[in-house]
Amino acid sequence: MRPYILAETNWKSVKDSSFEVAILPWGACEAHNFHLPYATDIIESEHIAAEAARLAWEEGAKVIVLPCVPFGVNTGQFDVKLDMNMNPSTQLLVLTDLIEVLNRQGIHKLVILNSHGGNDFKPMIRELGLKFPNMFITTCNWFQALDQSQFFENKDDHAGEMETSLMLYLRPDLVWPLTEAGDGSAKKFRFTAIREGWAWAERKRTQVTTSTGVGDPRKATREKGEKYFKAVTEKIAKSFVEVAKTKPEDFYA
Ligand SMILES: [Zn+2]
Repeated sequence: MRPYILAETNWKSVKDSSFEVAILPWGACEAHNFHLPYATDIIESEHIAAEAARLAWEEGAKVIVLPCVPFGVNTGQFDVKLDMNMNPSTQLLVLTDLIEVLNRQGIHKLVILNSHGGNDFKPMIRELGLKFPNMFITTCNWFQALDQSQFFENKDDHAGEMETSLMLYLRPDLVWPLTEAGDGSAKKFRFTAIREGWAWAERKRTQVTTSTGVGDPRKATREKGEKYFKAVTEKIAKSFVEVAKTKPEDFYA
């Protein structure tokens, strides 16, 4: 039993413990090319949250990892079979309920550990900050914590080399042979402003890819996944410790 994983611990242990930071892994349930499981984002966020929390706990940070929210925003993949969309407006309601519990019970820091590019918690955090002025709510995308080019040859947007390597390390039993995978090639928008990155529109996934993947997975290895997992969890653990140990009056320097 890991005392920093809420789903594993029990009331006897929890009722006399004090926690400073709640960690909320947030995934998505969606097709990941032909070879990775629908739960890829869920599995990644759960493992990364648990390992980073373990490292932070060893540093004395009182963190508690909540169960992962398994559904993400999949509006652009509406026609991909069994991609399970949760609208942003529903996510706001889910977050509101969870934060209400934390706020009432005096756990005033929340880190959302996001696994899925379609999830965007920033506008929700602005709104929730007004509603819960005692809460410090932060979101991080673990997949942006490190420069992926230091670890992988091909850039990964979705189900590519990074995610496949991670899954080969974390759950190799769920990864089909790479010979089954599509090459992850994807069309880009024709519009200059979007290509330059200062305008945005949602891509319809099935119009830009044939495999749902964006990024070539075929150079993925378990070793790359292990190295990346260690580095990314160490970095995220440091940020958990910082959030846990910094008092609200010292947030700004
Ligand atoms: Zn993913």
